Amino acid sequence: MIQQADVYDITIIGGGPVGLFTAFYSGMREMKTKIIEFLPYLGGKVPYFYPEKIIRDIGGIPMISGEKLTEDLIKQAMTFDPTIVLNEQVTNMERLEDGTFLLTSNNGAQHYTKTIVLATGFGSLKSVKLDIDNAVDFEERSLHYSIKKLESYRDKNVLISGGGNSAVDWANELEPIANNVTLIYRKPAFTGIESNVSKMMNSSVEVLNPYELVELKGTNGQISSALVKQVAMNATKEIAVDNVIVNHGFEINLGSIAEWGMDMENGTILVDQTMSTSLPGIFAIGDVANYPNKLALIAGGFNEGPIAVNSAKQFILPHEPLKHLFSTHYEPLTLEN
Ligand SMILES: Cc1cc2nc3c(=O)[nH]c(=O)nc-3n(C[C@H](O)[C@H](O)[C@H](O)COP(=O)(O)OP(=O)(O)OC[C@H]3O[C@@H](n4cnc5c(N)ncnc54)[C@H](O)[C@@H]3O)c2cc1C
Repeated sequence: MIQQADVYDITIIGGGPVGLFTAFYSGMREMKTKIIEFLPYLGGKVPYFYPEKIIRDIGGIPMISGEKLTEDLIKQAMTFDPTIVLNEQVTNMERLEDGTFLLTSNNGAQHYTKTIVLATGFGSLKSVKLDIDNAVDFEERSLHYSIKKLESYRDKNVLISGGGNSAVDWANELEPIANNVTLIYRKPAFTGIESNVSKMMNSSVEVLNPYELVELKGTNGQISSALVKQVAMNATKEIAVDNVIVNHGFEINLGSIAEWGMDMENGTILVDQTMSTSLPGIFAIGDVANYPNKLALIAGGFNEGPIAVNSAKQFILPHEPLKHLFSTHYEPLTLEN
């Protein structure tokens, strides 16, 4: 028999920035909260892909590094002592007769909960790989899909492939550090945010578009040059480079969560304005949640989390009125520390 003490009000699957803030808000609403995270650490994409990048689009925080934001989010999330489970990937969900959910992880661990909040991001944290035969020979040495330390590119010749926010951002961040930065993109127009594209266009970054990467040359894992080709033309160029950074997006792969029976679109989970999925008692927030005009931004997830928590509380206590609550003062979080 399940002991009531083992049943959580909310289990948040995914300890990225959105899951972390949601745990804080859930604690504020006195919900017994658990976070289950697949990685051995919290923070999601931020420490995984860009610990040193400066984040500039969170209201009231003009600039903050990925590392510092993660540190602050963890501190805030711990205010109400949620249970944190690391190194576990949630795979199965079963609804028991009394309505409690039973979650099972890849290591067989079982978790009982009244509601589930999915904050899984794109699931796998895998980047789309470069589609070139010998690319794997250079991976982790001179071909990278994320940037952990900007300093390691000092005085290097860097080629970035991609035209979205990440590629353009990295071009701007590396421009003052690297010897030179070339950015190639296979389409005529960039999809990155306009002011960052303008900054890049007015900098020393050499921009080649529409161009694509067709060959990497080098030995012992070290790239020496890259062959790039003008799209739909025969013109090619060989560029001397030390490092290639590829930002071609992410693989969306929720694993068996995608088979739980929720309505989905392009690998992400459809939610309504209460953050409810099509399965009652299961909510989705952050990058995994999809609705019209969705923005996959940290700040957007910071609003979706509290909405999901309030909806989850209403699911558990359907006769309680919906409350709009905000924080005031908590001992572990004072301005001095
Ligand atoms: C290079 C780069 C730069 C960016 N810059 C910015 C920026 O400047 N500003 C901004 O707002 N956004 C930025 N973003 C986007 C931002 O990082 C995401 O919107 C944000 O991380 C989404 O948070 P999340 O918590 O929804 O998901 P994630 O950060 O993806 O975290 C999800 C977590 O869930 C875990 N997980 C997944 N499946 C399971 C499972 N089955 N069981 C247990 N755990 C699971 C994963 O391991 C992961 O830790 C950037 C992204 C990249 C890649």
